[in-house]
Amino acid sequence: MDLTGLLRDRSLRLAVTGLSGSGKTAFITSLVANLIGAAGHPGRLPFLRAAAESRLVEVRAQTSPHPEVLPFPLDGTVAALAADPPQWPSSTTDLRRVDLSVRYIPASFFGFGRPLGRAGAGIAELNLEILDYPGEWLLDLPLLEQSYADWSRGVLELAASGARASLAHDWLEFLAGHPARSRSDAMTARRAHELYRRFLETARMQEGLSLLQPGRFLNPGRLTGDPLLEFCPMPGVAEVRPSPGSLAAVMESRFDAYKRGVIRPFFSQLARRVDRQIVLVDVLRALNAGEEAFTDQARALETILQAFRFGRRGLLRWLFGARIDRILFAATKADHLPALQRDHLESLIADMVAVPRLRAERAHATAVATALASIRCTEDGTDTIDGRRVDVVIGLPQGGQRRIRFFPGIVPMAKPPTGFWGERFTEFPVFQPPRIDAAAANGIPHVNLDKVLDFLFADALS
Ligand code: GDP
Repeated sequence: MDLTGLLRDRSLRLAVTGLSGSGKTAFITSLVANLIGAAGHPGRLPFLRAAAESRLVEVRAQTSPHPEVLPFPLDGTVAALAADPPQWPSSTTDLRRVDLSVRYIPASFFGFGRPLGRAGAGIAELNLEILDYPGEWLLDLPLLEQSYADWSRGVLELAASGARASLAHDWLEFLAGHPARSRSDAMTARRAHELYRRFLETARMQEGLSLLQPGRFLNPGRLTGDPLLEFCPMPGVAEVRPSPGSLAAVMESRFDAYKRGVIRPFFSQLARRVDRQIVLVDVLRALNAGEEAFTDQARALETILQAFRFGRRGLLRWLFGARIDRILFAATKADHLPALQRDHLESLIADMVAVPRLRAERAHATAVATALASIRCTEDGTDTIDGRRVDVVIGLPQGGQRRIRFFPGIVPMAKPPTGFWGERFTEFPVFQPPRIDAAAANGIPHVNLDKVLDFLFADALS
């Protein structure tokens, strides 16, 4: 019998998401470069079993064009990191895709864990399709279950609280002069939308807030400039059904069209096509930005979790059915912290999303959390502060001349109590990424990337 005939080639789709700036571009660049570099170098990704067992034969990036999805700009992201001095590649703003062909020797073919001779061995191929989309789009899922009036009420309530209250002023003042029942014209709807969008943008940029809906307003992707987006929540729509031709009626019909034409197709695709999901979360930035930003990020994560909960509570599964069978939440940029603090960060993200840490029971878990640095820019060290020895990280700040010893403070291991926020958390520097060679053949330094890949792909490469 020809045993090679038993080997089945297969495909796996991994979706990568996270709010803007959470580290998607860095993650995908590092994943691709490190997988390519790991074939033939078992020491490079020691916790990815297929690599450590010398079963990765060849990994190639494919650049076949896809009509609906832009290619992930791998050449550009690698070139930025290979520049002198190295630069951070530009961030994700739309859906993007990169395909990898992973040729490997299945462990099952030989018996798990035995040293493998390659000669004559059957080689299988895994086609890995990696999709990269803005996490902001996930914030729209609850809208599918809300009417325009419900949604408006919720947003207005939130807009009256905390830092949002003063930022929403111009938008709300405009709506006060153009109430729900007033007759609509194209200019008024557009202006109201633009003021609302600016409010969301300032909340994100200035206050580091995350729960900003609808997701396409800040990350429109291919819908940039599309009149479909020209709506916003309004006061006064809950009590009366908008009369035809009124501003509220126009807003409501666009809201419904957005749900039908944008949100629904996106989630139905996500549910039907994706096998594995990684959600990247910049927990450290939210800690830096203070209590309101942190609480807002936790609420945004709650909303994202609604999509991915396993079992009947998962909204995505309930609405569309879902193939996704493994999901990983990663707190990114963990190289801002020394080793012990990285452990704290892993506990914190696990607490925020209420799933086990990657190290615990990962063989059985379908959802786990971990701390991750896709591109490690620092090394661990120690320093003396006020006569006390403390753990620090050492790295070169972007644009700087000399490496600094950076003490990040103490990261809480669970959602911090109110008293924690007395002082603002230490401001984190942007570290210069390590220089890589232009082919990225030697891989990219990282923390925990191999564990992440093992959780996501070990079964597919076994
Ligand atoms: P995206 O918007 O989700 O694609 O985010 P990016 O991948 O572009 O990351 C945004 C910024 O975060 C980068 O420009 C870096 O400054 C920083 N960053 C991302 N990943 C890492 C990492 O692993 N370590 C460090 N130190 N910084 C990172």
